[in-house]
Amino acid sequence: MSFNETEEQKALRAAVAELGKRYGYDYYVRKARAGEYCDELWQEAGKQGFLGVNLPEEYGGGGAGMTELAIVLEELGAAGCPLLMMVVSPAICGTVINRFGTDEQKQRYLPGIADGSFTMAFGITEPDAGSNSHRLTTTARRDGTEWVLSGRKVFISGVDVADAVLIVGRTEDAKSGKLKPVLFVVPTDAKGLERKQIDMELVSVDRQFMLFLDDVHLPADALIGTEDAGLMQLFAGLNPERVMASAFSSGIARHVLEKAVRYVNDRTVWKTPIGAHQGIAHPLAQIKIELELARLMMRKAAFLYDSGDDMGAGEAANMAKYAAAEVAVRAVDQAVQSMGGNGMTAEYGVASLIAASRVGRIAPVSREMILNFIAQFSLGLPKSY
Ligand SMILES: Cc1cc2nc3c(=O)[nH]c(=O)nc-3n(C[C@H](O)[C@H](O)[C@H](O)COP(=O)(O)OP(=O)(O)OC[C@H]3O[C@@H](n4cnc5c(N)ncnc54)[C@H](O)[C@@H]3O)c2cc1C
Repeated sequence: MSFNETEEQKALRAAVAELGKRYGYDYYVRKARAGEYCDELWQEAGKQGFLGVNLPEEYGGGGAGMTELAIVLEELGAAGCPLLMMVVSPAICGTVINRFGTDEQKQRYLPGIADGSFTMAFGITEPDAGSNSHRLTTTARRDGTEWVLSGRKVFISGVDVADAVLIVGRTEDAKSGKLKPVLFVVPTDAKGLERKQIDMELVSVDRQFMLFLDDVHLPADALIGTEDAGLMQLFAGLNPERVMASAFSSGIARHVLEKAVRYVNDRTVWKTPIGAHQGIAHPLAQIKIELELARLMMRKAAFLYDSGDDMGAGEAANMAKYAAAEVAVRAVDQAVQSMGGNGMTAEYGVASLIAASRVGRIAPVSREMILNFIAQFSLGLPKSY
């Protein structure tokens, strides 16, 4: 692993930064407050090949890896456009389909995911299961050659803009006990699928939904992978999910840090700019250090994942996701504080990210579940649950 990015990676970073700058935070927040999605940005990112940079070239992707996809999301976030659906559509759904789908399924879904014309949401969380996926109750039963899916999901992002949702359930034969997941592509207009938007205190273009699946009939080839493969199919999406969650949080942290630094360099209420006071400078310097550490761990996780070391990537991806979420929360908090009253205004655009920065602590996996993982697997401590 090199600490320096390749020329291609640098060029990708610069091109995405340029795209992000053309849209920027004002565009993003205007869309979010209007209850709209950032379609123009999403489509353009797709057309330029950024959304599918991790997917194979033969299926319309860029043939690169998670390192590159993380660069895309981080740069868009740093420009003020943190796109949660990038974690979901190309990273989780794209990876699972690419690794376990048939050639026909890859042909059907991946080119659209790559160019942004087909977006896929991901539904695992359930009201009564939460962090404990082993309690999932969404169940698939066979009906001739078809599958019939019933259950409930909660907090599913982007269903309003998605063409399909990759739903995690279990078969009737494995209805209880340890989770043996099965994954189905469910079109968002499928008969029997209803959605209800959740009222969130979040300024974001990504909205969250309850999903009600009531005897949703699906063809045999809606099943991705096999019904016997067990957890491996689900685990395939976990490392990409965590690397991308790190990129999401790192982007937010960079965005607000840059705004705060610009502000404190300029604002003078005593003899010098307020950035000269250590009470203001040191917290920002600490955030810079913690941000660079988180980004370094993200790069390590992405590198290990891209080189096929799923186990090694697991520990690094969890650590990166934790570190980036923590620094994003602290960065937004400190940016608001550094700007005084202006930190609370719409004009300066940092307080709107308070809730968004906390998403990284909760989703797709909570801070506490990451600490459980590290305690158990890195430290060898016993499990409490
Ligand atoms: C903005 C947003 C977008 C989301 N998007 C999606 C999506 O697209 N698809 C999807 O499937 N889900 C999505 N989620 C759901 C998200 O993944 C869950 O909220 C998350 O996994 C936590 O589950 P929960 O909310 O049920 O909390 P719970 O599981 O009820 O946990 C509540 C609290 O208890 C803690 N806790 C639980 N168990 C333990 C334990 N064993 N040890 C220590 N602490 C514990 C948790 O860390 C948390 O702090 C989204 C959530 C949000 C907020």
